[in-house]
Amino acid sequence: MSGQAIVVGGGIGGLAAAVALHRIGWQAVVLERAAELGEIGAGMSQAPNAMRCLDTLGVGGQARAIGVPTYSAGNLRLPGGRHLQRARAGDPTPLLAFHRADLHRLLLEAVPAGWVRTGAEVTGLHQGGDQVTVTWTGGEATADLLIGADGIRSSVRRLLWPDAPPPRYLGRTAWLGVAPADGPPGSVTMGPGAYFLIHPLSRDRAYWAYVTTCPRPGVRHDDEKAALLDQVRDWHDPIPALIAATPDGAVIRVDIHDLDPLPTYVHGRAVLLGDAAHAMSPDRGQGAGQSLEDAVVLAAALSAEPAVEAALRRYDAERRPRTQATARGARADGRRTTSPAVHRWLTTTVRLVPPALWRKGLTPDGNATWRWRPPHLPAP
Ligand SMILES: Cc1cc2nc3c(=O)[nH]c(=O)nc-3n(C[C@H](O)[C@H](O)[C@H](O)COP(=O)(O)OP(=O)(O)OC[C@H]3O[C@@H](n4cnc5c(N)ncnc54)[C@H](O)[C@@H]3O)c2cc1C
Repeated sequence: MSGQAIVVGGGIGGLAAAVALHRIGWQAVVLERAAELGEIGAGMSQAPNAMRCLDTLGVGGQARAIGVPTYSAGNLRLPGGRHLQRARAGDPTPLLAFHRADLHRLLLEAVPAGWVRTGAEVTGLHQGGDQVTVTWTGGEATADLLIGADGIRSSVRRLLWPDAPPPRYLGRTAWLGVAPADGPPGSVTMGPGAYFLIHPLSRDRAYWAYVTTCPRPGVRHDDEKAALLDQVRDWHDPIPALIAATPDGAVIRVDIHDLDPLPTYVHGRAVLLGDAAHAMSPDRGQGAGQSLEDAVVLAAALSAEPAVEAALRRYDAERRPRTQATARGARADGRRTTSPAVHRWLTTTVRLVPPALWRKGLTPDGNATWRWRPPHLPAP
């Protein structure tokens, strides 16, 4: 089956959907409300499940060329610097770190020329017969299928599920940045009630994130960098140095929210994908990875089923259990990693885990989320 789709949102999820549709012979337009396309934010990691999706989308080789291997939890440390677990130099690691903008650009380059329309904010939609019509600032478009990939505060979700609860604040806040750095190997440092993550982005810069609890969203400081430095002043190298080296004004502050599970991702000929469907706490590094999985599974269903409705039913049945379980797990991980009680338990227990066993959990097949394999996308 082939057809015409409208994708709302030109983030990683929306662009991946456009690339996947192109690969199965569909036509699409991507409506993005921003005047210019690009990812704000700092870095991210992608696990083997996501990398396999990038392979299926035809950009895996290029992604591996720009991604930087990172050990992340392979180097689990305490604020004083002691390693609870330590990766051996040269150990393979399946996690790749990216600057968000680089991964976004890679997908954008794989979208056919002329498919993306910027400055197009979708404000309304209407379904009738076999068609969906959306209204955006500047026009209207009709297609066989609408994909809502417009993020955690999705307009498509609000228009189609007006009673769905809004994003839920999870009681945690994060500071993020990218700083010049001398190739740190990637690590997670667990403090009481907070953790600090480092991913190398190249030989000379690194992404860092500090996550901690905060009773309400919206708490802000005049100088975020100074406020953060105060919290980690005594943490091991290179943590204070990384923050200090981050350009003033480039420290990003994000309050962490996720979505309560929806009973379905499908409404007639409209479907949700990525954060619009299942925004999750970042603690498993899976949000964007799950949106890549969504894109590939949706395209595979559209190419295998004789009708759009059947394809959307299949997509919903395959994606909802997995994405909602991943979101539940990420929410629980986030609670644990910022709990002082769990911190005490970690410091005594994790270092007793045999290093070989710890490393096994960080292999490509080491956990159920990473083991997932995408379906094949047949050429049109
Ligand atoms: C601190 C933090 C760290 C993270 N780390 C990782 C990680 O390491 N690995 C990982 O895989 N994930 C990570 N994530 C999650 C990841 O960032 C998201 O899951 C992913 O970016 C979602 O992509 P998306 O395309 O679904 O949504 P978005 O990136 O939010 O894109 C939505 C797009 O839709 C546009 N839009 C919105 N409304 C409209 C409208 N009405 N009309 C038209 N356009 C519209 C927006 O402008 C935007 O461009 C992290 C998240 C956070 C907060």
